[in-house]
Amino acid sequence: MAESSYRGRLAPSPTGFLHLGHARTFWTAQVRAREAGGTLILRNDDLDRDRVRPEFVAGFIEDLRWFGCDWSEGPDLGGPCAPYSQSERLGHYREAFNRLRGSGAIYPCTCSRRDILNALTAPHAADDEPIYPGSCRARSAESAPAGRSVSWRFRVSDGEVVEFRDGHFGPQRYVAGSDFGDFVVWRHDDLPSYQLACVVDDAAMAITEVVRGEDLLVSTARQLLLYCALGLTPPAFFHCPLVRDDQGVRLAKRHAALSLRALRAAGNSPASLREGWLGTCPAT
Ligand code: ZN
Repeated sequence: MAESSYRGRLAPSPTGFLHLGHARTFWTAQVRAREAGGTLILRNDDLDRDRVRPEFVAGFIEDLRWFGCDWSEGPDLGGPCAPYSQSERLGHYREAFNRLRGSGAIYPCTCSRRDILNALTAPHAADDEPIYPGSCRARSAESAPAGRSVSWRFRVSDGEVVEFRDGHFGPQRYVAGSDFGDFVVWRHDDLPSYQLACVVDDAAMAITEVVRGEDLLVSTARQLLLYCALGLTPPAFFHCPLVRDDQGVRLAKRHAALSLRALRAAGNSPASLREGWLGTCPAT
């Protein structure tokens, strides 16, 4: 039984094997949950059906356990907020979508753009949504063209300042319309975007602090607007510095040698990998 109401989460996407960057963020999440005497939840962010593979779900569970992560609710354990896989939670997202549509917070967009295709996954690094030029902005929710698949965007108020205090980086300030634009909440192929699914789940799972990578700071600003529009209380946020390779490039799937399983096969222990975080990446 947890001693406090702190609830944190690990939210891997099963689109590849976990690397050292994930491990560092997840370890931070675990340490913070432990220090608070709270509960840690594992969530399977498997909305991206074209890229998700079952072996990556089994893979992250095995790799996280090997690394020493320990959660008490998740797709493997169940728990009071089940299901813990996003692909099984579409009804929750649709309900939130309907509320946003009912309040006029979102509008139908017929533009076919790459950013809509990319909207299923968290925008790490250079793959963040470009600022939408606003071609469909004046459309009302009722004006969705019949018989045609549309995506739906959240209409930001240009110039609105979104401020929050990050647990690691301190005060943050983003301006809607210049740091980010109208963002996708629902895709033309009838799936929620990462931004919407993440907010709906973090709220439904009563997460009190979200620990994630620094590259998601702008997404946090977008998500705060969604919390507000949905009448939900936002959690606290703690963004972790990114792990970079020797050239200063953020770790990604292409750094296969820094996947946890490759590091494990090369004889590294979890404790030795954690020591390496004081400097740059450990030698492999
Ligand atoms: Zn459009």
